[in-house]
Amino acid sequence: MTATHCPYCALQCAQTLTPDPAAGVNVAGRDFPTNRGGLCQKGWTSASVLRAPDRLTTPLVRGVDGELVPTSWDVALDLVALRLREIRSDHGADAVAVFGGGGLTNEKAYQLGKFARIALGTANIDYNGRFCMSSAAAAANRSLGVDRGLPFPLTDLGGAQAVLLLGSNLAETMPPSVAHLSGARAAGGLIVVDPRISATARLTENGGGIHLQPVPGTDLVVLLGLLHVVFSEGLDDPAYIAERTTGVDEAQRLAATWWPARVEQVTGIPETQLRSAAMLLASASPMRGGSGAYVLTGRGVEQSSQGTATVNAAINLSLALGLVGRVGSGYGAVTGQGNGQGGREHGQKSDQLPGYRMIDDPSAREHVAAVWGVDPAVIPGKGKPAVELLDSLGREGGPRALLVHGANVRVSAPNATHVGDRLDALDLLVVCDIVPSETARSADVVLPVLQWAEEEGTMTSLEGRILRRRKAIDPPEGARSELWVWRELAARLDAPGTWDIDAARVFDELARASEGGRADYSGLSHARLDAEPDLFWPCPAVKDGSAHPGTPRLFLDGFPTPDGRARFVAVDDRGPADDVRGEAPSHLVTGRVLQHYQSGAQTRRVEELVAASPGAFVEIHPRLADRHGIAPGDRVQLTSTRGVVTATARVTDAVRPDTVFMPFHWADEANVNRVTNDATDPVSGMPEFKVCAVTVARVGSP
Ligand code: SF4
Repeated sequence: MTATHCPYCALQCAQTLTPDPAAGVNVAGRDFPTNRGGLCQKGWTSASVLRAPDRLTTPLVRGVDGELVPTSWDVALDLVALRLREIRSDHGADAVAVFGGGGLTNEKAYQLGKFARIALGTANIDYNGRFCMSSAAAAANRSLGVDRGLPFPLTDLGGAQAVLLLGSNLAETMPPSVAHLSGARAAGGLIVVDPRISATARLTENGGGIHLQPVPGTDLVVLLGLLHVVFSEGLDDPAYIAERTTGVDEAQRLAATWWPARVEQVTGIPETQLRSAAMLLASASPMRGGSGAYVLTGRGVEQSSQGTATVNAAINLSLALGLVGRVGSGYGAVTGQGNGQGGREHGQKSDQLPGYRMIDDPSAREHVAAVWGVDPAVIPGKGKPAVELLDSLGREGGPRALLVHGANVRVSAPNATHVGDRLDALDLLVVCDIVPSETARSADVVLPVLQWAEEEGTMTSLEGRILRRRKAIDPPEGARSELWVWRELAARLDAPGTWDIDAARVFDELARASEGGRADYSGLSHARLDAEPDLFWPCPAVKDGSAHPGTPRLFLDGFPTPDGRARFVAVDDRGPADDVRGEAPSHLVTGRVLQHYQSGAQTRRVEELVAASPGAFVEIHPRLADRHGIAPGDRVQLTSTRGVVTATARVTDAVRPDTVFMPFHWADEANVNRVTNDATDPVSGMPEFKVCAVTVARVGSP
């Protein structure tokens, strides 16, 4: 039996894997603080992908007839190295780009950043976490001095009297986590902000709390309105604000313009509801003797062209109520991807080096260069963030080659048809994957890699807890670890540095590279994590040789900012990038279903999940459906200025009459990202997945 964690989301539920001759492994839930033995349907069925009928088990290269044909590893790697050398020689090192993933282990995220910078010499590396956590990360860094999604253990939520949950459908995305909301629900203090009556919003029914159902794209106004009420009704915590924060005056001045009647006009949320929500939070705060309150954000409010401002508004609200850095209260962002937290700490972001250091910081460059055994001048500077990077592919002066690891950008990127066109304009597309995803199927070279149960490594959960991923079964003959792929390519490219393929030794190197950084892992090793499965970063090496206990709760003694205080960041609303008036009168919001994960590349290959959730659908309010003559089951087209998507109508009053909802797990004509907006947040580069303007039309019957 092997103790490990689920291959999917950032809750990283604990699993026990038992070898099984037919299935590869049998999966069972394992008791752990976050999941208490529970798994969702994705976790229970996760072994199916190990034996997917179209599992990639041999390298493929595109032949003269345009088809992908099997070949040997030597032939595939020699070809990739030759083409990379040619492209670099003709167009320069930045003509090779790398796109990583938030599902890669910490060791791979680290090694990929190193591979891009010193084996390829390119500045152009970014990853799909840019689409996921970048705005929350940017907001936390500028306000709190560091970004760790939940700066407290998830179990702390259980004691809270109130939880404000904005833009997160936990009941479908991370079902076992809902148990931690039971205290707030019992106290009637769960406040869910979602334009849709999601499964999570339904948890507020029967006295569980309040559901605020704003017009899509107005979340920032909701938060400014809540802050307005907190200040105008004296619900703030003046002693905390004076002692532990700076910058309140300007933030308060901007919030003052958002009086509840004006907020109601913009968001549709009744004044009384807004005031009740503010009161619920305030009465649960430590200052008022409550048992604690939390403000949590998710992708629903973060995937916006003003995502960083929105998260800063959520943090401002938390600071005004005196919640952050107190046991039993706080602010957190609910990370989504499996290693969405670790994936953003170890250097695969375009502007960062391992240890969550900024790439333009000279001392960071010096430290990391010493670990890598190169001159700091060898490390390139800041590269392009994901949307900009994808848009530049194949253009004059842009990258001519792209290496993709752990991402399916042809489906998951906003304005996906355009991204597909950019991929098609490349001279070389190389994809490492476990199955032939839509992106892999269009590649020039496909390299088959290992899955979670076939390898060792570590993942960092949504709460900053570092977890061991363990090998339970042998991989198929022909598949290789990415660590091996990068070592082989580095050798063929005569790259400097050393390229270990043992995950424990790569972790040791990662730990050294992180030493002194914001996410410090230097006191950790695989052996220590095996013995102590409950360690949170920062966990630095201690000079006297004793073991640092890790840091489950951040900010209790101050903030890692120059003056030790948290910063209110003054923000105001600019509205979403798309205008829903005129020709495109409906808002489209996107999201997830319980059975599928991200682009669906894995979960669309699991029989049980497909049976339960077979295809794309559009939720439409009965009034909107009537207006367009749409009946349940009809084929419906949504059209934006970027493209068209087709899916089956579900007529339901779970959505607002001015809004349609569609999940994003399907490809081709059912890929909702054909219509989503690639306008980005100027601070973080986060694209505006969550709201765009569409027209709705019936195109056929079932
Ligand atoms: Fe896996 Fe997330 Fe489901 Fe847990 S909630 S079983 S980690 S997909």
